Amino acid sequence: MPSKMNPFKSAMQQLTEAAAVMKLDKEILSALREPDRTINVSLPVRMDDGRIKVFQGYRIQYNDARGPYKGGMRYHPQVNMDEIKALGFLQTIKNAVVNLFYGGAKGGISVDPKKLSKAELERLSRMFIQRIAKDIGPETDVPAPDVNTDSEIMGWMVDEYSKIVGKFTPAAITGKPLSLGGSQGREEATGYGGMVVLKQILKEQKIKKLPTVAVQGFGNVGYFFALFAQSSNFKVVAVSDSKGGIYSAKGLDVRKVHEWKKQMGQLKGYPGSTTLSNEQLLELPVDVLVPAALENQIHKDNAKKIQARIIVEMGNGPVTAEADPILIKRKILVVPDVLANSGGVATSYLEWSQNRSGVYWSEQEVLQKLEAYMIAATRNVLSTVREYKVADLRTAAFILALRRIADAMQARGL
Ligand code: NAD
Repeated sequence: MPSKMNPFKSAMQQLTEAAAVMKLDKEILSALREPDRTINVSLPVRMDDGRIKVFQGYRIQYNDARGPYKGGMRYHPQVNMDEIKALGFLQTIKNAVVNLFYGGAKGGISVDPKKLSKAELERLSRMFIQRIAKDIGPETDVPAPDVNTDSEIMGWMVDEYSKIVGKFTPAAITGKPLSLGGSQGREEATGYGGMVVLKQILKEQKIKKLPTVAVQGFGNVGYFFALFAQSSNFKVVAVSDSKGGIYSAKGLDVRKVHEWKKQMGQLKGYPGSTTLSNEQLLELPVDVLVPAALENQIHKDNAKKIQARIIVEMGNGPVTAEADPILIKRKILVVPDVLANSGGVATSYLEWSQNRSGVYWSEQEVLQKLEAYMIAATRNVLSTVREYKVADLRTAAFILALRRIADAMQARGL
């Protein structure tokens, strides 16, 4: 078994390192070491067979110096308080990197949603909102999708919230279906935004060679990243999901692979491909490696074996703090999650703005606005690298974000 690092400890190590480089005020640093509020709720849900089952739900409101708390809701058996705390902290940093006037939050339920019927999943999601309704809202805390949650679940959540407050309140939740005030472009936003970041970095660093790409995780983020990579003339040679991966040296047709997975329920067996494990995928000799699943995938035990030139962290926290220095030493460029996957929250911000103003944009308008956010964030991170002479983009992104958060905390009188 690879050595897994506690994700909150890993995130705090990253905070400490960036804070030391930028000489962050000690009081601000200590305030950022713990979330503003931790919410832990029990969720009794009636199962289809009539029994009541109790699940654990979490919401971490990490910091709201720059605006309402904002972050996704994850459904996964491994969800626990430390994981959600780490993700809430990273969300705070991410929202500031991309310069959204949001604070940071995260939530989740410890559950394997694949073991629930759709009706059970709906009752669980509605119960979660009933338990936390008084703590969330358009100006307070705005949830969104994450691993194993999608627009349908966000639809149930916004409906439940609206019933509780007695009026339809679309700005309370983002990532909703279009029919409930969701934004055009939200579905593909995270993958699209990641591709914009990668292309901007390649342009600024004058890297011309057409790269091969391997993507770990073939869900919302991984699929759309792979799709936009392919349409930008990258060759996607491997993709994987929780059941394992497939490889083709000639390149995979991403859309067809997606269709195959929908029909067969797995990637394995896709015509013209060979199977490989998730561990093997990470160690492939590709130009760009894209971990787009869960945290802790590249750790101190396998960091030495990574052969990619660039790692684009489309998932949250896939590279541990212990792996970072190994990768830096090996001159592997890591595009950190807080920059690479910030397209999702940037489009959530656009959705929330549309819900609040009542003015709705076309897909093209949304993607144009998103692109502007992503290019500005990438440029700001790269200029912070130069300003502070740091060796990696993560430290630079943290410094950029911490400066903005600290300015807001100070302006508010901490
Ligand atoms: P998703 O549920 O749509 O997809 C997750 C994918 O990862 C699935 O294909 C699943 O099979 C796969 N997976 C799970 N465990 C795996 C493993 N051990 N190895 C390989 N694959 C595995 O989730 P998503 O929305 O695509 O989120 C993926 C990552 O991106 C998460 O870390 C999430 O926090 C992050 N993220 C998502 C968004 C968003 O807009 N959805 C935004 C920012 C960050």
